Amino acid sequence: MVQLILRLTAFVVFACSAYAATSITPAILVERAQQQMNKNPEAAKANAEAALQRLIQNPDSDLAIRAHLILCNYYSDRDYKAREQHSAAAMALLGSAKRPSLRAGVLTCQGETAEGLGDLETARLRYEAAVAIATKAADNEMLAAALADRGFMRGVHGDYSASLADLRRAQTLYEQLGRSADVATTIHNLAIIYTDMGDHSEAVELFETALNMQRVGGLVSDQANTLTNLGRSYLLLGKIEAARRAFSESLLLSRRFGLALNEAYGLRGLAGVATLQHDPNLALRLLDQAVKLQGVSDVLLQARIQYVRGEALEELEQFKESESELQKALAIFKRNQSALELANTFDLLAKVNAELGNWRGAYNYQRLAQGHFTQILREQLDHRFALLRFQYDTATTEKENQLLTQENAANSLVLKQQHRADQFKSGVISLSALLLMALIALVLYLRRSSTHMRALAMTDELTGVPNRRAVLERLDQLLRDSIEPTSILVIDIDYFKTINDRFGHPIGDQTLRTLAAQLQIAAHPAFFGRLGGEEFAVVMANSRLAEARAMAEHLREATTRVDLHNFIGARHITVSIGVATSISGDESITSMLSRADSALYVAKGSGRNCVRVDPWVSSNTTASGIRR
Ligand code: GH3
Ligand code: MG
Ligand code: MG
Repeated sequence: MVQLILRLTAFVVFACSAYAATSITPAILVERAQQQMNKNPEAAKANAEAALQRLIQNPDSDLAIRAHLILCNYYSDRDYKAREQHSAAAMALLGSAKRPSLRAGVLTCQGETAEGLGDLETARLRYEAAVAIATKAADNEMLAAALADRGFMRGVHGDYSASLADLRRAQTLYEQLGRSADVATTIHNLAIIYTDMGDHSEAVELFETALNMQRVGGLVSDQANTLTNLGRSYLLLGKIEAARRAFSESLLLSRRFGLALNEAYGLRGLAGVATLQHDPNLALRLLDQAVKLQGVSDVLLQARIQYVRGEALEELEQFKESESELQKALAIFKRNQSALELANTFDLLAKVNAELGNWRGAYNYQRLAQGHFTQILREQLDHRFALLRFQYDTATTEKENQLLTQENAANSLVLKQQHRADQFKSGVISLSALLLMALIALVLYLRRSSTHMRALAMTDELTGVPNRRAVLERLDQLLRDSIEPTSILVIDIDYFKTINDRFGHPIGDQTLRTLAAQLQIAAHPAFFGRLGGEEFAVVMANSRLAEARAMAEHLREATTRVDLHNFIGARHITVSIGVATSISGDESITSMLSRADSALYVAKGSGRNCVRVDPWVSSNTTASGIRR
């Protein structure tokens, strides 16, 4: 039973793990491989290969390209052929890729392959194209990788300022992408370029920075590599103890994690330290260990070991053996064109030949060494000058940018103020418009009220008909403007006082109102108004005496018909009317009124309720009506 349960459990565990293994998608595998690249390259390789295997069933070009690029990177210092295969495979998939900027990654991989094979021109072209494509596509991941490679290659071949610019940009991009392992590698590569430039202090600082980051990230292989380079920089600065510590730590790490090449470099470094500390035997033992480790694959390392061995043998006064080692190293250094190592080898060869009594050889080596040292110094000076100029230009550009930013800020401030001013202006404009409208309203109101005032001034308060002023104005206007005769009728109520006396003043008022309204209608279209008290007047344009008299008769009769029953009962009122007509162009209101009054007086005297015309006019009127 127990056995059965155990078997069942084992089966379930197996099934679950199998399921878990199949549920990991190629995307996850590629992502993992990417993250493992620096820390655990073997695991990265395995995951990338597993991803490619799964992608056979469910093809996804983008993922496949990324997996191939990871493998291309993995094989970069391991297997040129494998790298070329992955590069070609990635290239073939580009046509169906959804992320076109992956082409930049493929180009970077091709550049690395070309650079490894010594085809620097092809490498340069590939890197340039990769940078251009990644820049255009704003693919920072691809751009960072392309810049890192281009920058390092530029630096190794002496274009220091351009190299540092690329590497610094790559560093910034990797920082933005959160790729700390790549940030550390880039800083390490910056330090290598500074070493080439002979700036070992800067190099030490950068190596230390990279090292700290690699320690935090647990990047053992990178740490071991950085430590070896750091040791070399310390040696070049003459800091022997610091160099020894760095080499020892590198050695320790390399041994613990089986990093053979690094272990060999660590041993060589420690051998150099031993020679400087006058322990050539220890140096030779360390170098023997190194040789056993690294095999024959790394030629440059071999030459470097031979050089240190030459140093140790020289210290041991075994000059012939020393010279032989140095000659072997020299051949490789010459092929590799490493100037500093060549100079150092010539220098040591000169020393050894002098000891051997070969003065001519010593002299020649000394001259060669001197030539190389001078050239190195000159180049370093040139590079430092170029770098200084580059830094100056960068600082100037930054300063200019800063100024531009300030100018922009100032401009935007001005714009803001302008905007505020505009707002204020439009506020003022709308306010002015409102004010204008208010003014217009006020003017209209004033005009209306002045019209109203004028109407009030021209209206009789009690009866509502035009008052004396209006009547006289009308008369004056006609006398001045019209060439035709104008007539005026002055109407006076007969015995009005008795109405007041009998019925009271208010009834008298009412009687006046009623009569005024009736007479105004009866006089129409002639101008009717109240002269004051119980006197009214009618002004007639274009009227001769006959018409005026007819009108007067009409009004007199109309008065007798006015219904005043409600106020004065059965009693009727009558009016006496005096008529005057203008007789010349310079007739005045006064003369007209006076003549009409006279006629009225005659009417009163004739018993009232009758019409009388201006006696003067009536007796002097010609047949044509107007006396000249
Ligand atoms: P006659 O003209 O026929 O000679 O006699 P009369 O009584 O009409 O004339 P008189 O000039 O003596 O009197 C005019 C009167 O009109 C005097 C006054 O009391 C009255 N009167 C004048 N103005 C008003 C008014 O506004 N309202 C009232 N109720 N009476 C007025
Ligand atoms: Mg009167
Ligand atoms: Mg009267």
